[in-house]
Amino acid sequence: MDKPIVSLARNENIELAVIQALDQLKLPNFNNKTILLKPNVGRETDPKLGINTNPDVVLAVFNYLNKKFKATFLLGDSPIINTDTKKAFLQSGYSKIIENDKVQFIDLDRLPPITLKIPKGKIIKEIKVTGYWNEIDCIISIPVLKMHMHCGASLSFKNLKGLIYKRDKIKLHHLQSPEIIEELKPTISKIKELDVAISDLSYIFKPELVIIDASYALEGMGPSSGNAVKMDTIIASTNFLAADIIAIALTREDWSLIDVPHLKLISELEKENPKSFHDIITIPNNIQIFKRNLEPPPTTITIKYSNVNLISEQACSACLSTVTNLLQNNIEFINKHYTSENPLRIAIGKGLNESNLYQDTLLIGNCTFNFKDKGIFIKGCTPVESTIIEVIKKSLDNRIKL
Ligand code: SF4
Repeated sequence: MDKPIVSLARNENIELAVIQALDQLKLPNFNNKTILLKPNVGRETDPKLGINTNPDVVLAVFNYLNKKFKATFLLGDSPIINTDTKKAFLQSGYSKIIENDKVQFIDLDRLPPITLKIPKGKIIKEIKVTGYWNEIDCIISIPVLKMHMHCGASLSFKNLKGLIYKRDKIKLHHLQSPEIIEELKPTISKIKELDVAISDLSYIFKPELVIIDASYALEGMGPSSGNAVKMDTIIASTNFLAADIIAIALTREDWSLIDVPHLKLISELEKENPKSFHDIITIPNNIQIFKRNLEPPPTTITIKYSNVNLISEQACSACLSTVTNLLQNNIEFINKHYTSENPLRIAIGKGLNESNLYQDTLLIGNCTFNFKDKGIFIKGCTPVESTIIEVIKKSLDNRIKL
């Protein structure tokens, strides 16, 4: 069996890195195909922060393929809840490619969804995906390389979660299957239902080409609150698993696939799937110069703040990111009003335990509704930062009055 090939290129001019990485690969024939360019544009945020895919990379991919193939190009994503798709693309610097009349910009959530069956899925047997599904012949995944607090790392396969219709993405965070987890735990200690669900998607999502954008990668608290690290690197392959394995080898030398459990599960689905970088041919052969160790995602976000007590049980990254950003953006205010003896208490997610809640615990998000009488409930999915701050200020006022 031939080993999969992963092509790497580094250049401060990231367009040139894209060209080099793609030149080094034997590409599929995309003539007469409808191609979905699927970057990671999950949030309304500025470009080159390592949160969304760098628009320069996507434009370079489009220009390259458009010169080589007579194809129809779609560009789209389905961002996190409460995020306007077009606004997210525009804020992330995609206006140039959106305005190109050879690219059709699509909001993947615009059409009614299509349900796909996953008979072999361990934990999901069917899933609602974008209504554009039947129009797409080929998927090109163009993720940004980032560490991820729930999944270890978010790379070319995890990026395809954006093909899931609207809120059905969130359902993956709330699956419960203790028997499956118990069975897998001895070999993959970090396994969660979410990882199993993502790996099940590999039965239906099969990207023809992946181009991992590591122009600016995200270390630490991914998917949206870490630090951007300039790597000027592009990793491309027709084998998504191989590309993701090499991305890990470049950035977390001490990790193996069990640190990114969904990839570990996918690697075990087929005998011929690569299991480590030893099963992959890279171009160039020596990848040492591309290596850049990234900080791993923290296991809890309370470590940093001794005056914040965060309980997060089965929360999805939207609520976690909101809370992380809230803490980062308001740390002076929080330090002024809270101490380690009298901390700001926050709880998010569906799996809370009543005994950990106090009267002043902020219960953030609709998932905490069942506990609304046990603390201060803030509705929304996810509530916006300004609403949460208002509630915090109000609760402080009440504390003073008392
Ligand atoms: S309330 Fe928060 S944790 Fe619950 S589904 Fe919405 S975003 Fe996710």
